[in-house]
This record gives sequence, C-alpha cells and structure tokens, in this order.
Amino acid sequence: MPQNKKIIPIPTEEDRTLDLALRPQTFQDYLGQDRIKKNIRIITEAAKKRKDPCIEHILFYGGPGLGKTTLSYLVAKKMGTGVRTIAGPSIKKSGDLAAILTNLREGDILFIDEIHRTNKTCEEMIYPVMEEFKLNLIIGKGPMARTMDLKIPRFTLIGATTRLALLSSPLRSRFGAIFRLDNYNLKEIGSIIKRSASLLEVEIEEEAIKTIASRSRFNPRVASRLLKRVRDFSEVEGKGVVTGKEAIKALSFLDIDEMGLESGDRKILQVLFENFGGGPAGLQSLSISTGEEEETIIDIYEPYLMQLGFIKRTPRGRVVTQKAKEYLKKNKKI
Ligand code: ADP
Repeated sequence: MPQNKKIIPIPTEEDRTLDLALRPQTFQDYLGQDRIKKNIRIITEAAKKRKDPCIEHILFYGGPGLGKTTLSYLVAKKMGTGVRTIAGPSIKKSGDLAAILTNLREGDILFIDEIHRTNKTCEEMIYPVMEEFKLNLIIGKGPMARTMDLKIPRFTLIGATTRLALLSSPLRSRFGAIFRLDNYNLKEIGSIIKRSASLLEVEIEEEAIKTIASRSRFNPRVASRLLKRVRDFSEVEGKGVVTGKEAIKALSFLDIDEMGLESGDRKILQVLFENFGGGPAGLQSLSISTGEEEETIIDIYEPYLMQLGFIKRTPRGRVVTQKAKEYLKKNKKI
C-alpha cells in the first residue's frame, strides 16, 4: 500500500529534501525535548570551558522522525565542529570504518545513524576507537596476518538508534551520555507545524494546525509531511489559505482518521481482534497476519498504538484493550 507507506515516519527520498529544508538551525527552533537540550548545554559549555574540542560520546534513542539527526547537527553547531554522517548498515567492512575514521579532523562529530545495525566485527573495532582513539587493524590473513594500530584524531561519536535493546552492552557502556527522546505533546507538534508552515510559506488557519497536529502521531516528521500533503490538497481544492475543513478533508482523503491512525494501524488492531480473539499474539504471528515487517510493527505502529492505550504488551504477546475495541466498533471496523 504505497499511500500507507508514505505516512509512517520512515524517511522517503521526498522527506529527505523536506527534512533538510525544515531542519532547525538553532536550539531555539528545536522545539520540546527540554531535558535533553539542558543536558547538552551543560555538556558543551563544560567542554568549551576546558577548551576541549570534544565532548563525551553521546547516544540518542527514540523512534524515527523524532529529531535525533537534527540534535546531532545542533551539537556540532554549538561546538563549532564539522559532522560526518554515516548509516550503521553501510559500515560493512573494516576498510569502510578505517576510511571514515582516518578522514576525521580533530574535534569532528561522527554521526552514526541506526548504529544498532552496524556490522558486529566493525562494531567491536569501534570500542578501542571510542576509548583511546586507536584503530586496531588486522592486515593480511592466516599465519602472515599482523596487527597495526592506527591513530585516529580525537572526535566525538554521536550514535542514534530506534532500538536501544539491540545495542550490545559493551557499545552502550562506552557512551558517556545516553538520551531517550521524549514523546512530543500536541502543543509542541502544533508549534512545529506553525514553524514549518512559515518556512514553506503556507498560509494556514489555527484550526487546520490543530487538526494536523492531532493526527500526526506526535511525530515532527509526520507533522511536516502531513502539512505538505494538506497544502497540496488545498492548492488544488481551496483558495490559498488552508482551512480547518480542508485539513480534515485532505487527511480523510489520505485515510488518516481523527485519532491519527492509518490503514496499517487499523489492520493490526483488526487482526488482533479478529484473528487472535483480542490477543495475546506474538510479533511474528502478527507480522505474518498483517503483512507488515516485524521491524515496522515495533518501530512505527506499536509505539503509537501503545501511546493511545489501544494495545498492551504482555509477556505472552500483544493484546488489544477495551478502548481499542470501542474505537473499532465506533468506526465500524469490526
Ligand atoms: P530522526 O533522526 O530522529 O529520524 P530528524 O532529526 O531527521 O529525525 O527529524 C525529522 C524532521 O523533523 C527534521 O527535519 C525536522 O524538520 C523535524 N524535527 C524533528 N524534531 C524537531 C523539533 N524538536 N523541533 C522542530 N522540528 C523538528
């Protein structure tokens, strides 16, 4: 279902351009996450006082689209350093890692996105790098193999992950600070939409902002994406200013209901209710019955359904709640 895939917060090519255009350039523009911002201010100011170009290695974790990459760029800006970005899954061989590390300059930030998906051998090579800025390379094979220590400029590693539990404990323990991104509230998401609307030069009524905010899964990336969709809809159907009514119409057209649920969420609830008698259902069975990947269920659907109090995780699997049953009945989905 391509329409469905466009709404969940996994970035598409189109999003990458939108993300770049809307990415906050200052901590002031980065709304919410006050606890993390305060901690970062302390960490960076302390380093500056020590005249240290580096801070301790930091790990951010939280769902896609919550602002982990943006935070990393803001840290670099605050420290006045460069950022090298790489996705964990693209570090496949020791040579890949060596190439990245030897190209760093003193004080740089290395941002590894989806760090939990880094190749395990490479991950182990990162440990001494994080501690002593030394890369132990094995050159050659068999009895002729020898090790070589490569000195790496001092840098700060910022890792981002959607799944803290998949990070090995030796890697986790080498981060000096670990921050979980908090859920955003309606007011914060509303402010993010307002800011995005102004950058995209979209004239929008307060009512429309509220409608988009309440259907955006409390996720900044989804909020901006929905704003863009609603703007497109309004450009064709409306009169230039996005009204509350148009926002409702556009979002219904995208099959996003008033709770912010889209077809994938509803399918999970329906399957749990109809195929599993309300649950419990294991992740694998749920994935087979819904046709959604396990990772998508865990990263995207489940957190929001749990946040709404529609499903619960028990040791025996997922169960739907009474609240979800009432919702499905009200919307004639069961
Ligand atoms: P992640 O790395 O967690 O997937 P990003 O940092 O790429 O998320 O954020 C996605 C987009 O959402 C950014 O381009 C930015 O426009 C917006 N965004 C995320 N967090 C915030 C925030 N706290 N304030 C304003 N905009 C935000």
